[in-house]
Amino acid sequence: MAHPASRAQVRLGDTTVTYLPDGHAWLNPAVFFPSSEWAAHAAFLDERGWFPVSIGSFLIRTADRVVLVDLGLGPVEFDLPGKAEFHGGGLLDALAAEDLAPGDVDTVVYTHLHHDHVGWTTGPGGGLTFPHAKHLVGKAEWTHWWGTEELVGPDPETVQQPLADVIGFVDHDDVIAPGIRVLATPGHTPGHHSIEVTGGGDDRRRVVVLGDVMHCQVQVAESHWSFAFDVDAEAGVDTRERLLDDVADGRTILAGGHFAGQVFGRVLPPVSRRVWAGGPEIA
Ligand SMILES: [Zn+2]
Repeated sequence: MAHPASRAQVRLGDTTVTYLPDGHAWLNPAVFFPSSEWAAHAAFLDERGWFPVSIGSFLIRTADRVVLVDLGLGPVEFDLPGKAEFHGGGLLDALAAEDLAPGDVDTVVYTHLHHDHVGWTTGPGGGLTFPHAKHLVGKAEWTHWWGTEELVGPDPETVQQPLADVIGFVDHDDVIAPGIRVLATPGHTPGHHSIEVTGGGDDRRRVVVLGDVMHCQVQVAESHWSFAFDVDAEAGVDTRERLLDDVADGRTILAGGHFAGQVFGRVLPPVSRRVWAGGPEIA
């Protein structure tokens, strides 16, 4: 049966990309993938017919940089009866297990600003959880949510207002740090980004941190499935198709932060349909 993912790591030369769990959610597919057919994908469901999504952050460590991609759900738990259950709160413990304190993080980059990606932006005292970090996001993303208050968006009081004076903007192809590049992947949200990591040298492999281009490995084969909270579902399908074609190149390791079981994997080149290959051996 499917279950949320645990810590996992891929090494590219001197660079590591590590999935740090913050928590997970269980989602009712009838609500979150309204036009999906799961008969062929029952292994991804629990006994209720719900599917798990991992929730967390990707830690990228190079020789001299400590970068977090997304900040999880934060220390909260809540149920939406009949729809979803959310559990968060493990990120700082997961970071400590890597021998890192919040003050060691030099950069936070958000793929987008949905609530399950910004949860640790501030702590209980109201200050930034990662006080020494540059905080980066797409400008279209920042603008889209500014002044709004939605359950799925960033909480104005604990996310956008505290960031207002410090937020930095990044765009497609920007290099955040050597080997860490921004890719525009709009659709799920207007300013959505994925993050490409390369190790350099002779190692031609790369890791692409998806953000929410996909919520589940099933979308590798069922790329037309749209998630309920895709702001522009059509653009989301276009982006997913383009990205899936681009990454089936034999050198790309995908990092799907919401994927069940194992967040890292590869997309095998299609014979008749695309196939996902996950597991620790893929790196
Ligand atoms: Zn998400």
